[in-house]
Amino acid sequence: MRDIIYLQKAILSHISDLVLVDSAHGGADGGCTSAEGVAEKGINLSILLKLRDILTLSGYQVEVTRDTDVSIHDSGIEGLANQKSSDMDNRLAVFNKYENALCLSIHQNQFTQPQYHGAQMFYSATNPSSEALARSLQGSFRELLQSDNDREIKQCGKELFLCYFSENPTVMAECGFLSNPDEAALLNTDEYQTKVALTLFSGISSYLSGK
Ligand SMILES: [Zn+2]
Repeated sequence: MRDIIYLQKAILSHISDLVLVDSAHGGADGGCTSAEGVAEKGINLSILLKLRDILTLSGYQVEVTRDTDVSIHDSGIEGLANQKSSDMDNRLAVFNKYENALCLSIHQNQFTQPQYHGAQMFYSATNPSSEALARSLQGSFRELLQSDNDREIKQCGKELFLCYFSENPTVMAECGFLSNPDEAALLNTDEYQTKVALTLFSGISSYLSGK
């Protein structure tokens, strides 16, 4: 009985927490691609859909920027560059639509040499809570999924548009490298995408329970 009461309290304590999840890219913008031609946008979306389910089942309020393969630019805008600019403006508007939301943008990484692998979290100092969120997520990857991951969280500037201009605690999660053939193959499986979603969930919930 005491366990049930504890569980109820744990769920009720974060019932007002809103988590905003962004699956980066979409539509004509595929993001980076693996050597086998798998685009980042679909992997980001698959992880987002799993993470949304896990968060929802755990009692969190969840909003997303997109849950289909689309760019969210304004209608009537011509040209890929203009569409990308409009898409980013609209994503930022969703990030800043809610007060006291936690924002997470899901990406996959790429590098010129194939040996690099492992998740890395990026944040901006424009919101003082973003660093702690990044630290929680990075720690979750190291503890739950990648014991050999010794990457440090990285502070970025305006080039990380959503992180820099978001008014909420915000992290860009680079979950793995599509330029690494082994990691790219893993990231393209349903099972590993579920593990990544659970890892992200763990980092989010431990940040929210500790703040
Ligand atoms: Zn990306």
